[in-house]
Amino acid sequence: MNSPGPGTIIGIDLGTTNSCAAVAFGDGQVKLIPYKGGDSIIPSIFAIDDKGNELIGHEAKRQWQLNPRNTLYATKRLIGRAPKDDVVESVQRSVQYQVHAGTENDVAVDCHGRAFHVHEVSAKILHKIRDVASDHLGFKVSRAVVTVPAYFTDRQRQAVKEAGRLVDLDVVRIINEPTAAALAYGLGKQLTERVLVYDLGGGTFDVSIIEIRDRVFEVKATGGDIFLGGIDFDNAMIRHVLDGFQAKHGIDLSTDPVAMQRIKDLAERTKIDLSARTEAPFSIPFITMTSQGQPLNLDVKFDRKLLEKLTHPLVDRTLKIVGSVMVDAGVTAADIDEVMLVGGQTRMPIVQERLTRFFGKPPSKGVHPDEAVAIGAALYGWSLQENSDLKLQLLDVIPMAIGLEQAGGTMHVVFPRNAAIPNAKAIAATSSEDGQTELVVRIFQGDQAETSGNELLGEFTFSGVSPGQAGEARLEIVFDVSIEGILTMSARDLDSGRQMRTTVRVTSS
Ligand code: AMP
Repeated sequence: MNSPGPGTIIGIDLGTTNSCAAVAFGDGQVKLIPYKGGDSIIPSIFAIDDKGNELIGHEAKRQWQLNPRNTLYATKRLIGRAPKDDVVESVQRSVQYQVHAGTENDVAVDCHGRAFHVHEVSAKILHKIRDVASDHLGFKVSRAVVTVPAYFTDRQRQAVKEAGRLVDLDVVRIINEPTAAALAYGLGKQLTERVLVYDLGGGTFDVSIIEIRDRVFEVKATGGDIFLGGIDFDNAMIRHVLDGFQAKHGIDLSTDPVAMQRIKDLAERTKIDLSARTEAPFSIPFITMTSQGQPLNLDVKFDRKLLEKLTHPLVDRTLKIVGSVMVDAGVTAADIDEVMLVGGQTRMPIVQERLTRFFGKPPSKGVHPDEAVAIGAALYGWSLQENSDLKLQLLDVIPMAIGLEQAGGTMHVVFPRNAAIPNAKAIAATSSEDGQTELVVRIFQGDQAETSGNELLGEFTFSGVSPGQAGEARLEIVFDVSIEGILTMSARDLDSGRQMRTTVRVTSS
């Protein structure tokens, strides 16, 4: 009974630009799930066309140029974000759809006159992936392991789980993308190795240092930037093209959504071309018109050197993060046995060259950069299945500190960055006023000393404090971070032994 059947847990790589699903067979084989018999990649794009039809994946991508305002892409960068976040502002600058504050202290995006919470868009994509998988496998898929960037906060992880709930897909486990890639690389090889996963995808950058001891995968440290990916490489090219056009013709193309969409498409294609060739033309006929009605063409010569120059600061940023993660893990370049490349953007030759210089050896070709994450997720899904004979242990870490706000708005760190998970800690608390029956704590995630620089995870109210004088109550607050990096809070009155009722509110910080 080795073939997948109802109840099988598939693996889903829900990417910023592309998504991919895989399934493991009981004998250790893993297969990517093809879409309509071919490509296994589903673009993470949702659109609504003029007639009001909802389009997802390739269908949405195909009409992107003609319908840029109602085509939602790269929304993963906004998931689980507070609207005040400066990321929201920068995303708005680089996309043609409208981004604004949602009703749940989250971000909403507009499509065809309707506002969607960002996790609703992820839900649409998950739904599509589930349908494709169900069609292919011949039964209704209902459970999945879904991967997220290691650098996702608790709130972003919760939002992905919520997206699954919306479409009745049980997200049995969230795991980190680099950890999943390491599983795909190392499982079944009886390795004892320390690997560094360099994951530069469409929208996010992650790096994790992972020790593999046969079936134990232990993350020692992780870091990243959820605002650094292939899209930023495209944007660097786009800026160059726009500036050149403005200098030559005095026309700012950035205000023209259709022209922008054409430029964006070509920028990505040229960037990909320049991984295989050293020169590529960048020409778009009739991009706009002069005030006299004369058509204007866009014509720029791009070569690999120029692309490298424009994107040099981006690669620098990734290497800086690699350096600090190595410091956190207490290792040097010589201690890394293998550097693994994950994510489409790592195909850029200069990325590989600079890593080779940094580590003194070329990165490993041990995994497929586009497929490893989904494959690792599927393997993990298989290990979680009730009838599974695969035993493996994942030991991960939290990417940023979790703590509570103390008087004066400073952060009292409960779990430092890179604390191992699962993990639980109890801290003592008391009442600060006479007759107090409730205790309110604000929990934050981030590495800044002031909570204002960190992300508010929630305001927790614990009710049922026995009224007494200030400082009399003896309370215990328990922080529990699951293997998924998701926090649960509880509190107990130590005198009565009673568990206190907890309510959570996510307000704006
Ligand atoms: P992923 O999220 O891993 O699918 O990565 C997608 C990103 O990789 C996109 O920004 C692509 O433009 C980029 N990409 C894919 N193939 C290449 C390539 N051959 N050279 C450079 N970038 C690429």
